[in-house]
Amino acid sequence: MYKTRQVQVGPYTLGTGNPVRVQSMCNTDTRDAAATAAQINMLENAGCEINRVAVPDMQAAQTLGEIKKRIHTPLVADIHFDYKLALEAIKQGVDKVRINPGNIGAIENTKEVVKACADHNVAIRIGVNAGSVKYLKSVAGQVNLTDDKWAEVMVQEALEQANILEQLNFKNVVVSLKSDDFARTLKANELFASQSDIPLHIGLTEAGSFLSGAVKSSIALGTLLQKGIGSTIRVSLTEDPTLQVRTAYEILKALGMRKYGPNLISCPTCGRTQVNVAGAVRELEKRIYSNKDLLAKSTGLKIAVMGCIVNGPGEARDADFGIAGGKGEGLYFEKGQTMFKLPQEEWVEFLINKINTWKKEEGKENETL
Ligand code: SF4
Repeated sequence: MYKTRQVQVGPYTLGTGNPVRVQSMCNTDTRDAAATAAQINMLENAGCEINRVAVPDMQAAQTLGEIKKRIHTPLVADIHFDYKLALEAIKQGVDKVRINPGNIGAIENTKEVVKACADHNVAIRIGVNAGSVKYLKSVAGQVNLTDDKWAEVMVQEALEQANILEQLNFKNVVVSLKSDDFARTLKANELFASQSDIPLHIGLTEAGSFLSGAVKSSIALGTLLQKGIGSTIRVSLTEDPTLQVRTAYEILKALGMRKYGPNLISCPTCGRTQVNVAGAVRELEKRIYSNKDLLAKSTGLKIAVMGCIVNGPGEARDADFGIAGGKGEGLYFEKGQTMFKLPQEEWVEFLINKINTWKKEEGKENETL
């Protein structure tokens, strides 16, 4: 098992022995503080724990303080090349900067950034994306490199960058090694973890649309997490950012690493179904996964939405509670006991109320997200 050092990002200690934290990134214009903070608040309600924003210019950097005032989670500034943007971001109160020390000119610039980070307890993330590594860019399309070689070059780049910070005795560092290729991402992260104790932020870049991106990310991140690699994760999807958060948690939940929302069971429906099961499940999920309080209260509960009363209550007998459909209505049941009928249009509201008032058994307490 790999073991990392501990790194502090705002209130969170990252690294071996700590919960794997879920990150996302805004797609708003950072200069628009209201829109960016609103998106972060939405992500926070979905359970996102660390949020990154792009900082392309000084105006964006100067807006970070205003964003920070309106949010409740650590803020990460994503900066390329201009160390002055990093200094401004730190002044504005961010918790982490993503910047590569080898890409910001003279060593004096790096020293200034490192000093500011050390003075303000700000972490640095070194990000190596396969597509931007100089050597890999220069041989792209001309030389056929093996996945091992890709991984080796990416790790070498990350270690060189990390070494600059190491020389300056700065340890509050996280590294990411990302590629859109599954094998290269796995190999690069494994190789890095075997050579360094710096915690890794893991993810696949450009993972794609919701379904294909979620599947690819689940396999890649799941494989790494099972080996003890990854202190923070991000699922990059060309989709609503809250779905990225949801998918990240579903991966961690499936691996038994985090708790997140209910175990919602629903049947695939068949010729017996006379109600809109899919619609009810979608609506219920939407309500739960956009509300931190409901998320915490429903964590550990098993809730069923079944298509018919013939098999529904029986198949979902170990659910805490649920509804089985009839003709335009449903039969509510608790712990396998059928109780009373409810019209379909009242199902979701009824189940939400149940979540809010349900007394959980011992050992199934709310998880504070
Ligand atoms: S629970 Fe009923 S409606 Fe759903 S798949 Fe089974 S038999 Fe069909």
